[in-house]
Amino acid sequence: MTYLRVVPLTAGECLNVSALTQRGAAWRVQTYPAGFALLLHPTRGPVLFDTGYSARVVAAMRRWPGVLYGLLTPVRLDPRQTAAAGLARLGFAAMEVRDVIVSHLHADHIGGLRDFGAARFHLDPAAYRPLRGLRGVAAIRKAFMPELLPDDFESRLQPLVFQPAPLGLSPFPVAADVFGDGSAYAVQVPGHAAGLIALIVRTTPQAALNGDGAGLTLLASDAAWSVRGLREGLEVHPLARIVFDDADAERRSAGQLRGWLQAHPRARVIVSHDAPEARHA
Ligand SMILES: [Zn+2]
Repeated sequence: MTYLRVVPLTAGECLNVSALTQRGAAWRVQTYPAGFALLLHPTRGPVLFDTGYSARVVAAMRRWPGVLYGLLTPVRLDPRQTAAAGLARLGFAAMEVRDVIVSHLHADHIGGLRDFGAARFHLDPAAYRPLRGLRGVAAIRKAFMPELLPDDFESRLQPLVFQPAPLGLSPFPVAADVFGDGSAYAVQVPGHAAGLIALIVRTTPQAALNGDGAGLTLLASDAAWSVRGLREGLEVHPLARIVFDDADAERRSAGQLRGWLQAHPRARVIVSHDAPEARHA
């Protein structure tokens, strides 16, 4: 069975109030990493799951209307921290990346897309449909900065094809086998954003979808603010729900992710804005 190596990386960090990201937490400002992941595929080479921030996001936040975004979620970015720079440090040129899986189109996930000129972008079409053509304040209200998309984005877009999911992905009814080899399945977890996906990846040759989760990694993107919050079903502050695209869908998605994790207790969990879990044995 094809399997991938998962390398969690970060490109910048954002500031937010703890009490908003987790109910009952203190009212103080905390920094959250803008995480993404490098997935090493045996034949496709380096694949990215999101990209984190880039200098383009910081520049856009200095102009109207991006400045609104910067007020809500201030960003810290060292230029050496971008996805392209992180990959270069690991020995990969940006042009080697032929596949970027995009969990959703918020600025902290697509900041680096323009740096990967040879990549196709795999995403749920439901993520792009409501944003297509949005400009100015209307776009910023959706945490979307259209200028972060490459000019030829649409011709490089590779819509994920969702089909009835294998039994081991229950309770998710459908999943997209991203490379057609069972190494990475995208599942739909909308709510935080329309079309948000999580990725379930095999990281060992023996990893079985219908086992206890050993050898599987769940990359949950922004479906939760913390690994603990996801595993234990902790609620975010009701105020934080205001920014959700769809609060009911968010609850449903969190419940499905928790259900899958309960059935796969040994799976490793990585969310975008929290430290990744240590690798499970
Ligand atoms: Zn997001």
